[in-house]
Amino acid sequence: MKTLQCPICGTPLKAIRGYDVQGITTDWVAGCYNCFFQSSHFWKSKKACIEDMDRLVSLFPPIMRVWPGDEVLWGTDPVTVLDKDMQCGELMVINSQGNKYIIEQHVIEKWPWELKQKGGDNGR
Ligand SMILES: [Zn+2]
Repeated sequence: MKTLQCPICGTPLKAIRGYDVQGITTDWVAGCYNCFFQSSHFWKSKKACIEDMDRLVSLFPPIMRVWPGDEVLWGTDPVTVLDKDMQCGELMVINSQGNKYIIEQHVIEKWPWELKQKGGDNGR
């Protein structure tokens, strides 16, 4: 399974142990050590916290969830993301011929999490 990345800065998300006023472990929360992004949901177990990360990240717009190196489908062509501009909503991508393009996010046919199987039957 791919490590989920912080939607703000791209650092892998972690299950972070919380402490109550006595300093005793209480709950787990999904968060980022780099930019201090943190979920508002606390969980009684680390496992539940990790299982909730998918849902947490899915709340963010696609361009915040895609990172350089990810493969997306542009029309019918798979292209690899080289960079992204979240302010403009644009992605720089490279195709299998090595051509680079800057494309707007709304032309993306499928995002990495919608491309379940490589060369498979797309889950049908
Ligand atoms: Zn972060």
